[in-house]
Amino acid sequence: AELPADPNETNEVRQVSNALFSYVNPTKPSNPKLIHTSQEVAESVGISLDEIKSESFLNVFSGKEVLPETRPFAMCYAGHQFGNWAGQLGDGRAINLTEVTHNDESFMLQLKGAGRTPYSRTADGLAVLRSSVREYLCAEAMHHLGVPTTRSLSLMLSGDQVLRDMLYNGNAAYEKGAIVCRVAPSFIRFGSFEMLTARNELQSLKQFVTYNIKYYFPEIKGEPKEQYLQFFKTVADKTREMILHWQRVGFVHGVMNTDNMSIHGITIDYGPYGWLENYDPNWTPNTTDSQYRRYRFGNQPQIAQWNLYQLANAIFPLINEAEPLEKILESFMIDFESDYKNMFLSKLGLLISTETDNALVDGLETVLQLSETDMTIFFRNLSSVQKSDSPEKAIERIQDSFYIPEQISGTILESWQKWFTLYLERLRTEERSDKDRSEKMNTINPKYVLRNYMAQLAIDAADQEDYSLIDELYTLLQKPYDEQPEFQKWFAKRPDWARSKVGCSM
Ligand code: AMP
Ligand code: MG
Ligand code: MG
Repeated sequence: AELPADPNETNEVRQVSNALFSYVNPTKPSNPKLIHTSQEVAESVGISLDEIKSESFLNVFSGKEVLPETRPFAMCYAGHQFGNWAGQLGDGRAINLTEVTHNDESFMLQLKGAGRTPYSRTADGLAVLRSSVREYLCAEAMHHLGVPTTRSLSLMLSGDQVLRDMLYNGNAAYEKGAIVCRVAPSFIRFGSFEMLTARNELQSLKQFVTYNIKYYFPEIKGEPKEQYLQFFKTVADKTREMILHWQRVGFVHGVMNTDNMSIHGITIDYGPYGWLENYDPNWTPNTTDSQYRRYRFGNQPQIAQWNLYQLANAIFPLINEAEPLEKILESFMIDFESDYKNMFLSKLGLLISTETDNALVDGLETVLQLSETDMTIFFRNLSSVQKSDSPEKAIERIQDSFYIPEQISGTILESWQKWFTLYLERLRTEERSDKDRSEKMNTINPKYVLRNYMAQLAIDAADQEDYSLIDELYTLLQKPYDEQPEFQKWFAKRPDWARSKVGCSM
C-alpha cells in the first residue's frame, strides 16, 4: 500500500544536519526476480519457507512494496576515505526497511541497490548483479567461516539496466541491476559519530552514543563518562576480533574507510574485497589503491587501529580526556599482536607457546613468500603432516600449494627444509596425537573459501540466467571446514586465467 505523503520523504540529494537519517522509500524496480534466498537467515529473522515463496517477499525485498507500518530510511554518516576526511557520505544506495525482533534478537533489514537517497551525491543509488552476487555470497561464506559479518537474506534482479564503467576495458556498458537484502544488528558506522562531531552537533552526539549503549551494549553501566569509555573499549575489542579472523582466513576487505567500519565489529560493505591466494601481505584486491596499498592484507590491523583513532576523536568531546582513550588504542595493538601469535600457532596445530614461536611464525611468513604459495591449500594440507615425517616428506604433503613447483629447489627448498625441521621439532614436543592435531587444525584452517575466480564464474553464469553456480557455491560455503569430497574441484589453486584479476568495483 502507498504510504501517506510526507514532505521529508524525498530523495533529493542534500546535506542533512542535526539528523542521522532521512526517510526515503526504495525506488520501484520494473521487473523484480528472486535469484536466491538464505533460508537460514530468513528463519533467524522469523520468515518462513512459505513466506519466502510469496509474492509479498519478492515485492518487499526488491523495494517494490513497503511493508505496512514501516518507514524506510537512509542513514547519514561521514568518514575518512583512504586517510582523508570526506565529509558527509551517507547511505547512497542502501535503505533500511525496518527492524525486526525474533527470538529476542533484533535485526535491521537493509536493501542495497534500491535507488537514490538524499546521500547518493552524483551516483545512481543502484547496484549491479556482479557486485551483488559478490556481496551476497561472501557475507554468508564469512559467517560460516566464523567471521563476524552482516548476513545476506536475499538476492534479486531489479529488471532494470544499470550503466557502469567496466573495470577491465574502461568502457561504459549496461549491466543487470540487482538488490541484496542484508541483515545486521544495525548498520551504524564509525563515520556516524564522526559526522556529528565534525558538525559540532554535540548534543546529538551524546544522545546517539547513549542510544548505542542502551540498545546494543546494555551490559555497559556506570557513570556517563565511564560508559563512553567502556563503549569505545567494546568497539575496539570487537574490531580486534574481527581483524584477527580476517587474517586467519586470508580475507582482504579492500576499502577500510571509517564509513565501512561497523560499531558491532562485523564485516560490512563487501566491495572490491578479495581472498589471498598466494600468501602475500602486500596484496590488495582494490585497483584504486594499487599505488599506496593502504588497505593491503598485512596492513589491516594498523588500519583498524587508525580507524579507531578517528572514532576516539569523534567521541572525545564527551570525555574531554585523551589519556584513557589513548590507553585503549595502545592496548588494541598490544593485544592484537599477542592474539595474532596465538591464532597463528593454532593454525599450525601447536598448543604450547615457546621461545621459538617468533622464529616459527615469522619464518613461515617468509618462506610462504619465497615462491607463490596458496595460503588456503598450504594450511589445510599442513594438517596431514605426521610427527614422524622427515622435512622432505612434510614438504611433499604441502606441495600442492605451490603455484610454480619448479621453483622449489636450491635455496628456496633449503629454506623450506629449515622451516619444517623447526616445525617438526615443535610438533614432537607436544603430547597431542597426529590425528587429534589434524582434526583440530581442520576446524581453524578452512578447506573452501570464496576465491575470486569462483565468484566470477558464478557471476558469468548468472549473467546468462544460470543461477545454479550461485546455489552450488552457497551450499559449498556453508561448510567450509568439512571435507565435502563431492566439491573437491573447488579445493584448487586459482587457475591461470584468473591470475592477475582483481576484485571488482561498485
Ligand atoms: P563505498 O566505498 O562502497 O563504501 O561507498 C562510499 C560511499 O559512496 C557511500 O556513501 C555509498 O553509499 C556511496 N555509493 C557507492 N556507490 C553508490 C551508488 N551506485 N549510488 C549512490 N551512492 C553510492
Ligand atoms: Mg560503504
Ligand atoms: Mg560499497
